[in-house]
Amino acid sequence: MNTALHTWNQLPGDDQPLEPYLRKGLQQLLEATTGRRACLVFPAQTGQPALTIGQTAAGTPCAPADIPGWERLASGQEPPSDDRLLLSLPGIEGGWLYLEASQPLDESRRALATTFASLAALARETRRWKMAFHMARAEKAQYVSVISHELRLPMTSIKGYTDLLLKGMTGALNEMQTNFLGVIRNNVERMSGLISDLSDLSKAESGRLKMQSQAFPLAMQVQKAAETWQQACAEKKQTLHLELPADLPMVQGDPQRVAQIVSILLKNAHLYTPAGGQITVRASAAGDMVRLSVQDTGIGIASEDAEHVFEQFFRSEDQRVRDHPGWGLGLSVAQALTRLMGGEIGFESKAENGSTFWVRLPAAP
Ligand code: ADP
Repeated sequence: MNTALHTWNQLPGDDQPLEPYLRKGLQQLLEATTGRRACLVFPAQTGQPALTIGQTAAGTPCAPADIPGWERLASGQEPPSDDRLLLSLPGIEGGWLYLEASQPLDESRRALATTFASLAALARETRRWKMAFHMARAEKAQYVSVISHELRLPMTSIKGYTDLLLKGMTGALNEMQTNFLGVIRNNVERMSGLISDLSDLSKAESGRLKMQSQAFPLAMQVQKAAETWQQACAEKKQTLHLELPADLPMVQGDPQRVAQIVSILLKNAHLYTPAGGQITVRASAAGDMVRLSVQDTGIGIASEDAEHVFEQFFRSEDQRVRDHPGWGLGLSVAQALTRLMGGEIGFESKAENGSTFWVRLPAAP
């Protein structure tokens, strides 16, 4: 069961070809729906060739040419029968998912296929965006904002259908279907995170990110961020300590964005610190600035990685980092937000010796 769902634990990495990933997904769809054959059709899109992947329950390939009446089905001249399903891939014009079973497809199987179609479209769209991103760095800011917008379309559809299925709105689910949907839900959450990071970065770069600047007590935002990581730390037997002096000056900046920065630093400290480690958040006045630091007793940062950690999409090659899914965007976002508030961000670290990430923000006048 776990092996069967492995492919869908995360979207394919940059260096992983999309085709085998989607093929495996089709196989799992056939298993989960007791389908007979399924086929994905992606037309050629800017920067990407056409792609057709077909699969029978027996594991042999199939193509639209093998599907009786494909032309009439795809052109809408003939509606699919009870045991056949043809879905358009959201956001991909001329993209199809075809599913055929040996008995009529019930509501929950149909809804599962719809969710799968959205996820496949999302995987393909994400890949398309990444290729274009590397080719056209100069146009990045504008391009990213357009793509972020485009990705929200299939994502909304995946979220909606997944929640509907999980609530049992289309009938009772078996264990495999529930697990399958749980994995899809996790992927959607990750994609939401990616889209919001990309959107923040793109807006910050093009000067469209508006800060709601005000004087506020730092401790409250730190506590808010710490609360969201408290349980994850406890589960990993990590102690999370806050050392926040009562007489700390107020900070001038956007409180929500400051909580977001602290959350990014806490997430990294939590992920890259082995079980049983310690994480300490400290704050202190430093002239006309307020200094906040997140210290961990984790794996540290090797000297060859140190100059890259704030680069977009950078992730260390260290297996202990690669074991956790991530996009390598958290610190870029934290840096962009800090700078927009007139602050600075940096760190001290040594391989195997823990890290201390710090942020200096202007104190309120
Ligand atoms: P992500 O965590 O998604 O990989 P980030 O931009 O937040 O992306 O971090 C970039 C990289 O910096 C990480 O992949 C990791 O190699 C390194 N890093 C960040 N924080 C820490 C930390 N507290 N301890 C060790 N390495 C870290």
